[in-house]
Amino acid sequence: MAWPDKTPPDASEKQTLGKGVFRKCDGCDFTLPAEDLVRNFEVCPRCEHHHKLGSEGWQQLICDHGVLDEWDEGLEPTDPLGFSDGKSYRERIRASQLKSGVREGIQVGRSELKGRPIAYGCFNFGFMGGSMGSVVGEKITRLFERGAAARLPVVLLQASGGARMQEGILSLMQMAKSVAARERYRATGLPFISCLLHPTTGGVAASFAFLGDVNVAEAKALIGFAGPRVIESTLRQKLPRGFQRAEFLLDHGMVDMVCSRLEMKSRLATLLGHLCQ
Ligand SMILES: [Zn+2]
Repeated sequence: MAWPDKTPPDASEKQTLGKGVFRKCDGCDFTLPAEDLVRNFEVCPRCEHHHKLGSEGWQQLICDHGVLDEWDEGLEPTDPLGFSDGKSYRERIRASQLKSGVREGIQVGRSELKGRPIAYGCFNFGFMGGSMGSVVGEKITRLFERGAAARLPVVLLQASGGARMQEGILSLMQMAKSVAARERYRATGLPFISCLLHPTTGGVAASFAFLGDVNVAEAKALIGFAGPRVIESTLRQKLPRGFQRAEFLLDHGMVDMVCSRLEMKSRLATLLGHLCQ
C-alpha cells in the first residue's frame, strides 16, 4: 500500500480551484458567487455594474418565460469574397458558431412581452463581435417585414462592433437595406423600439439603431460610430469625460431614455402600452 500523495497542488492547479463558482466584479472588484451574477442577469448586486449579457440571457430577461419562436434560424453566412486575414472567414465563422452555439450574430422571431405579442430581435455580441454581415442585415430586414405583415411592434436589441469587414461592401450594403426596411415599416404606423446595449458602434449605430420611434439605451453602454481612442488619435484632442456613454448621449439629445438592465422589460412594456393602438 502506498502512502497518500501529499504533494501540494502547484500554482496553476490552485488557480483553477473553484473556477466558475466565484467571480470578481469588474465594477467593485468584490468576489461574489458566480450564481448571484447569473441570477441577476450579470448586474452586480453590490455596485450595479453591468457585465456583458449574451443573447440567451437577454431572451430570458425580455421575452415572457424566455420563449422566442425563432424566424430564419437556419440562415448561415457564406464567404462570397473568399476572404482571409491570416485565418479564412469560413474558419472564423465555424469557430464562432462552435463557441457561441448560434449560427449568426442575431436572433429574430415572435415573442411576447408582458403578454403583448412582439417581433423581437437581439444581437449576439459573442458571435464575431455582433458584426453585421449579409445574414444579419437580411434577418433585420425580415424582422421589419414580418412585423409589418403580422401587425407586430418591433423591439430590437443591439450590441455590435459594426459592419463585418470580411464581407466588404456586401456588409456595408446592409446598412442601406435595413434602413429601407425600417422606413417601409414606418408606413404601417406600428412602433419600433430600439434598445442600444453595450456596445453599439460602427455601421449598426450609423443605420437603424438610432431610428427607433423611441431609442432606449442601457445604463453606461458605449454607443457611437468610431471608438474614443480612434477619435482622440485622429483629432489629437482629449474627449470629454463620459463621451459616448449612454448618459452623455441622453444629455445631448441622442437617445430618449437610459435605463438599468433590470428595469428594461418594464420600461419597454410601458412604452408599448403607450405606443400600440
Ligand atoms: Zn460590483
